[in-house]
Amino acid sequence: MSSAITAPFTDATGADVKVRFCPSPTGLPHVGLIRTALFNWAYARHTGGSFLFRIEDTDAERDSEESFEMILDALNWLGLNWDEGVNVGGPAEPYRQSERTHIYQEVIEKLKASGHIYESYLTGEELDERNRANGRAVQLGYDNSERELTEEAKAAYRAEGRSPALRLRVPDVDITFTDLVRGEITFPAGSFPDFVVVRPNGQPLYTLVNPVDDALMGVTHVLRGEDLLSSTPRQIALYNALYEAGITKFIPQFGHLPYVMGEGTKKLSKRDPEANLFHHRDRGFIPEGLLNYLALLGWGLSADQDIFTMDELAAAFDVTNVNPNPARFDQKKADAINAAHIRLLGADEFKARLMPYLQSAGVVGATLSEAEQRVLDAAAPLIQERLVVLSEAPDLVSFMFKTADQIVVEEDAKAGLPENTVEVLNAGVAALEAIAESDFKTEVIQAALQAALIDGLGLKPRVAFGPLRTGISGRRISPPLFESMEILGKAETIARLNAFARVA
Ligand code: GLU
Repeated sequence: MSSAITAPFTDATGADVKVRFCPSPTGLPHVGLIRTALFNWAYARHTGGSFLFRIEDTDAERDSEESFEMILDALNWLGLNWDEGVNVGGPAEPYRQSERTHIYQEVIEKLKASGHIYESYLTGEELDERNRANGRAVQLGYDNSERELTEEAKAAYRAEGRSPALRLRVPDVDITFTDLVRGEITFPAGSFPDFVVVRPNGQPLYTLVNPVDDALMGVTHVLRGEDLLSSTPRQIALYNALYEAGITKFIPQFGHLPYVMGEGTKKLSKRDPEANLFHHRDRGFIPEGLLNYLALLGWGLSADQDIFTMDELAAAFDVTNVNPNPARFDQKKADAINAAHIRLLGADEFKARLMPYLQSAGVVGATLSEAEQRVLDAAAPLIQERLVVLSEAPDLVSFMFKTADQIVVEEDAKAGLPENTVEVLNAGVAALEAIAESDFKTEVIQAALQAALIDGLGLKPRVAFGPLRTGISGRRISPPLFESMEILGKAETIARLNAFARVA
């Protein structure tokens, strides 16, 4: 056992790169967490290396199966596929820490035998007392005083019924590493004392199991949130012990990804609705849009291209280009990016993405009738250009799937109507009546209404078309009016306008 860091950092590149995503399953998936998964995925795809997915569920009090399922759901929905790990398998099974207790036990025995971890019996109060008696600040914590405890002293503690915690013997040297995002970082010798890696009850802590698993699984690059930066020197010290005990051959490279900020100077907190990945899915973000936006939280493709695909991300992504400064979650920007990706979808794909939103809003049932399919085929292109999120679609198109008697006029639509609404409706109906059934097409409808209402009655477009729009849809805002009338057909359009004229 040496008093220096003797283990080498890996220089793995290309296909030898192995990154990992190893969340603790607590609560809802946070967008910052998924950004971490995305950057690991992108780095693996960029290098041609592999992406491993492990679950760190050793905290029975906080971890839940529900949260685990949500993380799986999030990764699957986004298409962030992994090459090794949970549900996929691989050479280092199992990939859930709760199933790896026997493995940690073996490592602990080896590190005890090699002298890298040692028994520590002092309680918190005893430590404080010792520090006070020795004129040492209590905040400094542990004083490494049990490094050379004799067998007799240990036996005496045990005779008192005490069980020891296990601490790592930290080399008394500066710990320096080159962070892939932040450059060289040094923690001077003595920055932290020998720390507990196994509780007196035998339970190993995160500071042990996280690097042990990375070592046993051959992880070469640890890309994770900035909040974990302070634990990195401890992990390097532990890695060094694993190296000296013959358990691993290298220390991974580390890169700490920037915080995701909310409003003002605060981190995006779990309580902020936009922190929850599924909030965006419920609103109707599509995976392409959300991934593109998450990638912009600390990275960019180029100064003049904000919109990109996952293939473009994978081709260009290098963790060394990640910006260390905190990244702000900007909902407006995220929305604009999503709208751009919605416009990029092929016509059939767009319809397929809309369906779940139309179904859950009750606009259509589990399957479409032929008539409904025709309406959807015609309506989808009218709204694809205008949607920011897919959840806006049901309100926009539901009137097309209803019958005249089901149309309810919304309050804000009523408020915007002109005084002469009934006159406008009657003139509109007369103009539409004159069109032959087989000619009831957008251009013909537009020409007829234009001639009757704008040229004939001398109305402004807003006054002329507002009542017609509300008459057919019940709403103030709808997809383009003449196209909508064509979709409804002549009889249905006229029936709706007449029905509205009776109550307007
Ligand atoms: N389970 C840890 C967490 O969710 C992961 C730490 C790491 O990426 O090394 O915070």
